[in-house]
Amino acid sequence: MTSAAVLLAGLCSCAAVDGERRPPDGVKTQTSEHLVELELVLPQRYQHWRSDLLQDWHHLQIDLEQRLARWPRQTQAVAKSPLRLTITASPADAHFLAERLKLPGNPLVPRTHPGERLALITLPRDDRLLANRAHPPRTWRETVRHEMVHLLACDRPSLGGAPAWFHEGLAEAMVALKPTPFPDVQQSAFGSSWVPNLRELQAVDGGGSMALHTVLAGEASEIRYSAWACLVLQLLQEQKSTRPWQLPFAHPTLAEFLASLPTAYGDVLPSPLPRGRELDFEIGGKELFMASLPSKAVVLQAGSWQARQPLSFQMRVGRTGAAMAGMVLRSQADPNQVLRIRMNTFGAVVASLESLQRPNTRAYQSRPQAGATSGWRDFELQVQNDEYGKAFLQLQSADYKRNFAASFTAPFQIEFYVVDGACEIRSQEPFLPLSHLR
Ligand SMILES: [Zn+2]
Repeated sequence: MTSAAVLLAGLCSCAAVDGERRPPDGVKTQTSEHLVELELVLPQRYQHWRSDLLQDWHHLQIDLEQRLARWPRQTQAVAKSPLRLTITASPADAHFLAERLKLPGNPLVPRTHPGERLALITLPRDDRLLANRAHPPRTWRETVRHEMVHLLACDRPSLGGAPAWFHEGLAEAMVALKPTPFPDVQQSAFGSSWVPNLRELQAVDGGGSMALHTVLAGEASEIRYSAWACLVLQLLQEQKSTRPWQLPFAHPTLAEFLASLPTAYGDVLPSPLPRGRELDFEIGGKELFMASLPSKAVVLQAGSWQARQPLSFQMRVGRTGAAMAGMVLRSQADPNQVLRIRMNTFGAVVASLESLQRPNTRAYQSRPQAGATSGWRDFELQVQNDEYGKAFLQLQSADYKRNFAASFTAPFQIEFYVVDGACEIRSQEPFLPLSHLR
């Protein structure tokens, strides 16, 4: 982390800076004089997200005022410079800004630079579908809250001695709308899905007696951060020390840590279950939005479909990247292949049964859509009977119709995905998770 002075020139010419000090509606006014201003730089196309982000900023401050009371906050007069959050519209803009400011690290990874009192977060792509969202996508907004906590921690100097895992756990704990050591998928997109991996490790010989922090060092970042969040919230609740990270409580074995979780917590994988970033979805929702970084994938495991009723939805794909979006169906009866529906940036589709060993690269077969912007395309999947009464799966999408092998039978596990692009999926009926359609 460099301590060089930062000048937010150049890229900021098309962005606005917020000077508003008033708390949002619903925030108690008696705390308003304690609220710290955020210098929020948002690209022009995304200015309508400003009130959501500032509301999060204010709510986080009020929450942290109580949770972190033992580490006094320095006044803004001492701090001298404001806390700043800069959002870039695309990875290219993030690289450009990071180079200009000489910021260390990969600028595509959200990061707070305490010396500069600056957090830099990029949007995955400057796509019209993303810009048209009324609110920031759920997973991205969670990332913003995470970095906001790092920014606010800059004003509590006595927290400076805390180890990195404590800072990351604290920031990650606050991405949940209602912070609890044991969040579910209603509270944060990743929910309790980090727990089964750790339970599996505990079951391995000697796994339970390993130090939690040693185990987490080898785990994926989502698992590591979620476990730290859980540990930090428990520490803050149960310990009064100003250096709780030094207590034995902060250094449990894996078995001790798992024993502190509620029985059966994380036993069932949440559904829908997201993989990658960014996604916008709600449990019981009628729509799904996904946008990936260049050449990356985003997946939502949406649940199971019993095929007793047709499955109807609409999809459209943004016009950035070499987007490939669609759906994957898996059948327990035929585990060696999947049915993949692919749709490109021009709205053309192709669907085929693909061997898991040899993925298909078949050309798009339906006609591309006309027009300069993405149009919605209808899809319907249903089970039909042939002339001998044998059931088979059929896909229909406008002029495009395909039938699939009779061996590929329900129940199906369904995933929606996008690679190198953005897409939206919607349905008349709530379809997340899909098992509601039984
Ligand atoms: Zn962090």
